[in-house]
Amino acid sequence: MSLLDNAVTSLRLALEDFSSTETGRTLSAIRNLHAGILLLYKEKLRRLSPPHSNEVLIKLRVEFQKDSNGTVISVGAGKKTVDVHQIKQRFADLGIQTNWKRFEEINSLRNDIEHYFSTANKGAMDGAVSNTFLIIRNFIHTELEENPQEILGEAVWAKLLSVSEVFEKERALCQQALSAIDWKSDALAEAVLDLTCSECGSPLVFPSQPTRDPDLQCRSCGAMECFEHYAERAISEHFAGENHVSVKDGGEPVTIKCPSCGQEGYIVEENQCVICGESCEQTCACCGNSIPVSELGDGNLCGYCEHMMNKDD
Ligand SMILES: [Zn+2]
Ligand SMILES: [Zn+2]
Ligand SMILES: [Zn+2]
Repeated sequence: MSLLDNAVTSLRLALEDFSSTETGRTLSAIRNLHAGILLLYKEKLRRLSPPHSNEVLIKLRVEFQKDSNGTVISVGAGKKTVDVHQIKQRFADLGIQTNWKRFEEINSLRNDIEHYFSTANKGAMDGAVSNTFLIIRNFIHTELEENPQEILGEAVWAKLLSVSEVFEKERALCQQALSAIDWKSDALAEAVLDLTCSECGSPLVFPSQPTRDPDLQCRSCGAMECFEHYAERAISEHFAGENHVSVKDGGEPVTIKCPSCGQEGYIVEENQCVICGESCEQTCACCGNSIPVSELGDGNLCGYCEHMMNKDD
């Protein structure tokens, strides 16, 4: 069986799990969707691997050999194949496009499925199916240059399409409603669009009032979440990657724990906490230098001046 056949099999199994009402099949469905996408990605890498390289691009381990002309070539070694991280890297190196944002949604649902295990319901699954559909439809068409309808087969195609159309309409309604709220912060406005339900993992969260700081209700499972809860979740999830990269590169984090309310809601660039609304003094009242991010607090002195002041006492 080729990778492509395996991918289609995974997707077909996922849809069977998806249609079943048995508990426990959700987990299997998500795993199969995830596996199906990765198989398509690997198929692309397999096709791009040079001849006689033992499919080097899909192998976790790469070895170097001399061919009969004495030229050094890289060949794939061992049985293990590339993981998500490596696929991302190779795609970036080779200019292969896919919708990583939608993939991340499925990936995090898969990684957190234990957390959602009892609650991940049809809505969360619809989201994963829809994301999968849009990813694979585009990927088969643009990167594999094949007809997705033909590759997937009529039954799988029709099922994916119908789930996706309904779901994407719902998603668009939610995103419009979220965008219409005045969040008083660009960072928060951006972050809430990525939010998923804390109970079931569905991205269909909807403001229950069109006012500032509304409660959010999940249109899949009905769970309500108040502003203080989801705002912190939105900020910390949305900026986790950026914070990680920034700090790794020796820079300042984009968001910090608010010195006033203690929640992870302080946006450094906006100099405000999106949860309690407090702002910190950024210029030291003593030396006039800007106060480093790590020293932002409820006072108006930089760490050095504060230290010197206390010494004098
Ligand atoms: Zn929900
Ligand atoms: Zn605060
Ligand atoms: Zn100072």
